[in-house]
Amino acid sequence: AISVRNVSKRFGETLVLRDINLEVPRGQVSCLIGPSGSGKSTLLRCMAFLEEATAGTIEIEGEALGVFEKDGKRRRQTPAELRRTRSKIGMVFQQFNLWPHMTALGNVSMALRRVRGLSRKAAEDRAMAQLVKVGLEERAGHYPSQLSGGQQQRVAIARALALDPTIMLFDEPTSALDPELTGEVLNVMRTLADEGMTMVVVTHEIGFAASVGNRVCFLDHGQLLFHDTPETVFAAPRHPRLEQFLDTYL
Ligand code: ATP
Ligand code: MG
Repeated sequence: AISVRNVSKRFGETLVLRDINLEVPRGQVSCLIGPSGSGKSTLLRCMAFLEEATAGTIEIEGEALGVFEKDGKRRRQTPAELRRTRSKIGMVFQQFNLWPHMTALGNVSMALRRVRGLSRKAAEDRAMAQLVKVGLEERAGHYPSQLSGGQQQRVAIARALALDPTIMLFDEPTSALDPELTGEVLNVMRTLADEGMTMVVVTHEIGFAASVGNRVCFLDHGQLLFHDTPETVFAAPRHPRLEQFLDTYL
């Protein structure tokens, strides 16, 4: 579960997130939509502590992430605590960020060896199981340059899953892909959701948000205008800002 309470984020003078409150219960999928610059990536990055919220608290599986308030003071997790909390989070970005000089199997097993200290054999076994899961067992020995964008993104998903997170965060995972390749990535994500993974997905794929999201969140100018079921959010009559956004993306 993820709990975002009264989170604000400022970059210099600019208030990018304004008092965000959001709960993602275990096993649920929240899709985050909104215009460019509305703060979607910033919110997701705060959930992974890649950015530090200026105010408020984020809890991951009931534990405050990074910085938190206790007894009226702002406190910080120790590096070991932070590592443990963050290990529950897997993240996938628009750019796949694979190592070009490593095969698919190498990319997935690398973190298992480095972060988890597994032996080569153990890491590769586990990596292979994840590649099977995303439908890439036959591509394990291929380098990123030999893979399509959709296959590369599936390797990136396998790489995140290999570390056994309980929460997966996706930031526009299909935005860099040719339209014909988005389906295979969305299908992997749909399967993950069906298996009960807790997920937050920033996406412009409204169809995916409507069919897979338990909740749809609409961010606008750093404000969470809605956080409700897709049925409710997409039902007419719609808020003018949402209407305007949907006109651009549907
Ligand atoms: P997009 O759909 O284009 O990805 P977004 O909703 O993800 O947009 P963010 O990337 O979260 O938007 O950016 C929100 C605002 O914060 C923007 O005005 C952006 O310029 C600003 N911003 C983001 N990162 C930084 C940073 N590191 N320093 C200063 N300003 C930033
Ligand atoms: Mg973004």
